[in-house]
Amino acid sequence: MASAVTPRNEDYSQWYLDIVKNANLASNSAVRGCMVIKPYGFGIWERMQRQLDDMFKETGHQNAYFPLFIPKSFLSKEAAHVEGFAKECAVVTHYRLMNAPDGSGVIVDPEAKLEEELIVRPTSETIIWNTYRDWVTSYRDLPLLINQWANVVRWEMRTRLFLRTAEFLWQEGHTAHATAEEAQAETLQMQEVYATFAEEYMAMPVIRGYKTENERFAGADNTYTIEALMQDGKALQAGTSHNLGQNFAKAFDVKFANKDNQEEYVYATSWGVSTRLIGGLIMTHSDDEGLVLPPRLAPIQVVIIPIPKPNEALDAKAAELLAAFKARGVRVSYDSDDTKRPGFKFAENELKGIPVRLGLGSRDLENGTIEVARRDNKTKESQPLEGIVDHVVSLLDDIQNNLFQRALDFRTAHTHHVDTFEEFEAILNRDIPGFIYAHWDGTTETELKIKEMTKATIRCIPNDAPEEAGKCILTGKPSHRRVIFAKAY
Ligand code: AMP
Repeated sequence: MASAVTPRNEDYSQWYLDIVKNANLASNSAVRGCMVIKPYGFGIWERMQRQLDDMFKETGHQNAYFPLFIPKSFLSKEAAHVEGFAKECAVVTHYRLMNAPDGSGVIVDPEAKLEEELIVRPTSETIIWNTYRDWVTSYRDLPLLINQWANVVRWEMRTRLFLRTAEFLWQEGHTAHATAEEAQAETLQMQEVYATFAEEYMAMPVIRGYKTENERFAGADNTYTIEALMQDGKALQAGTSHNLGQNFAKAFDVKFANKDNQEEYVYATSWGVSTRLIGGLIMTHSDDEGLVLPPRLAPIQVVIIPIPKPNEALDAKAAELLAAFKARGVRVSYDSDDTKRPGFKFAENELKGIPVRLGLGSRDLENGTIEVARRDNKTKESQPLEGIVDHVVSLLDDIQNNLFQRALDFRTAHTHHVDTFEEFEAILNRDIPGFIYAHWDGTTETELKIKEMTKATIRCIPNDAPEEAGKCILTGKPSHRRVIFAKAY
């Protein structure tokens, strides 16, 4: 049998690690906090990239590439930005090694010290805005709509595969605009692109909201976020879109001549999602048998398994089916390995989260049927071979929708409104705490105090939070709308 997965209710963290490991998504590496993404995990990332990239292009963006290294002086130009990132920077100080004079091995050549240290980018606002100074002179150069696919390094102390790693893969959009209104529209547009991607492709419902001042991106005027609820009742910040105002334009002196020929600082946004999304995907849908993948992101959507083992007639039928599925754009594979028994293959494919399994047996061929098994709800049924491609294509849509609905129902069942601190703590002490809508007095002091007392943070203020008079759950001071608290990854 394929290796076992620790049940979620026994040890959720171990369950997550078992899935990552046993589904062959990624592993720890020799470098602390950095992971090796294996082909199957990378296949999921590639599908995410492809879809997101299409969505960025549809909204007018182009890809470009900027250096991995940022001169230290650049990072310090925007005060809030450097303060936010200073504690987690990897710094390059030398550019050469040499043999140790005592023969003990290779050491850093002390002669090869860089005049100015280089920071391995934790994010690229600084190097990009230093470049935009040369790209923008007039309103005709705006808007500048650029995205970069890259790796970044943040020296995180507590890491977890995909969710929080020291090096991660991501995309970072960096746009420049002539007006504050345009920058705000872009910030919201990209939040919506992320939300659409999360919901329609990842089948992961998200709350669209914005961060409190305390949780904002270092250097932003406002940070918009999409927040998802994981199966253990903890929140995951799945993507962020920042309105940077004129902060970076001022720090890097990026001005443009407006239509009246007056000089103005440029307005900026930046937005990113990372390989963390794969962690979110796992924790939204998977179960005690392994990974569960939404069809739209599954590297393999359908697997055909010959029962009990391949033979000429089954191989021929499978080849016919493969061609028919491929012609419909379905990602399909035929497991013709005759050294493994069907039961083993079933478990293996369940672990990998392949949405649909087709069991093709000799008796089926005689009867003109095939067994169709769904990964999401583990049901099986015998279907006529005639028209099977149409059936499976529409089944893939059903599975995609079912996964979204299931996740949405879970979120609804674990969303609470509370008005007192006692209720708040009681919910947080549950096995699966969830999202808590509560009143807050609007101060960072109260926010931090609540975090210290309960570990819960304000995930966001929903974009569409209605006005509602109430009292802060901690201080009793007046509040005019609820914010969302949760324990978070
Ligand atoms: P930020 O530039 O801080 O807004 O980050 C952009 C996105 O990258 C966040 O919304 C997270 O989803 C993701 N992210 C931040 N830090 C990490 C990390 N250490 N590992 C993986 N993803 C991360």
